[in-house]
Amino acid sequence: MSSKVFYSTMQNKGLQSPLSKITRLLNKCDPKSKYGSKQLVAVKTHFGEYGNTAFLKPVYLRPVIEKLKQLKCNPFLADTNTLYVGMRTNTVDHLHNAFLNGFNYSTFQIPVIIADGLRGENSLDIPVDGELLDHVKIASDIYNADAMVVVSHFKGHELTGIGGAVKNISMGCASRQGKLIMHSTSKPVVHKEKCTSCGLCAANCAADAIVFGPKAEITEACTGCTRCVAVCPESAIGIDWNESSDNTQRKMAEYAKAIHDHFENKIVYLNFITDVAPTCDCFPANDTPVCPDLGFLASTDPVAIDKASFDLVAKHSPDGIDPFGKIYEEIDPIIQLKHAEKIGLGSTSYEIKMVK
Ligand code: SF4
Ligand code: SF4
Repeated sequence: MSSKVFYSTMQNKGLQSPLSKITRLLNKCDPKSKYGSKQLVAVKTHFGEYGNTAFLKPVYLRPVIEKLKQLKCNPFLADTNTLYVGMRTNTVDHLHNAFLNGFNYSTFQIPVIIADGLRGENSLDIPVDGELLDHVKIASDIYNADAMVVVSHFKGHELTGIGGAVKNISMGCASRQGKLIMHSTSKPVVHKEKCTSCGLCAANCAADAIVFGPKAEITEACTGCTRCVAVCPESAIGIDWNESSDNTQRKMAEYAKAIHDHFENKIVYLNFITDVAPTCDCFPANDTPVCPDLGFLASTDPVAIDKASFDLVAKHSPDGIDPFGKIYEEIDPIIQLKHAEKIGLGSTSYEIKMVK
């Protein structure tokens, strides 16, 4: 069965603010039935790495937040700490970065919450009936929200081909431990040439899994919590990014299913096809867009909205061919959507409903 995807182009003959289109798209998803008085509603987005300029324009969130305030909800902006070392590795740096990129209380008069704790330790184990996973590790302040609006910047991705709604509710809502499980089949690794034997990692390891000989070494006792990655002042502990794209995408679909099922009918997805960079917003830089700005989409089906976004980008790229496939020849980004469909997350068949 096909799912409805509501779509507004960037064309604006009547010269109305594009923000009014976002309000109309959101209204098509029946927000009154999903978001109620005093509910803590997570507006899940991606604040962009420091140095990147392709991430979602903060102003696009304004109609979403205004709608939630109109419905007397208590919305908050949410993201989670990253697995890689950068400006979003711990909550303090992440909040600085969010502020600098325009996601802050001054702009929206709502709090900004990094949902998995100071160094990504606030993680909940949630069961999922997947093919690869039987449980997932989710950022607790996302899981404990009453409802969610998922606002995704649709773009390319160097590991998964594309990043949209499915990626936002999987990798984007997982705790650091969850991200490790999706990205790797092994524990963190110590880059010995960088290690100064300061001992901070061992002092922070609850599993007593770090020994010295004389540089830090991670033993079999490691539980994969990744706390040591966040505390090492030399960035000497890293991830063995050894999981294949196919498996990462399948695991992502299973994480996404856990989140989507948890919120049931209290979740709406908005995708923005603007500044479609070939790479993820986690990069501290970005290349020229692969297609023109195409507009905004809304749906209650994360699979349908991503498939519709992918098809629109392919249709409007200079030669009408999927631009991500040309950049990442080895990656089939549809795997995440097909697997998501197979496990009952949504449908790759969709019906576009134009919204002016
Ligand atoms: S925290 Fe980093 S530098 Fe210090 S001992 Fe551990 S790995 Fe080495
Ligand atoms: S990942 Fe966690 S358990 Fe493993 S060595 Fe690092 S801090 Fe210890």
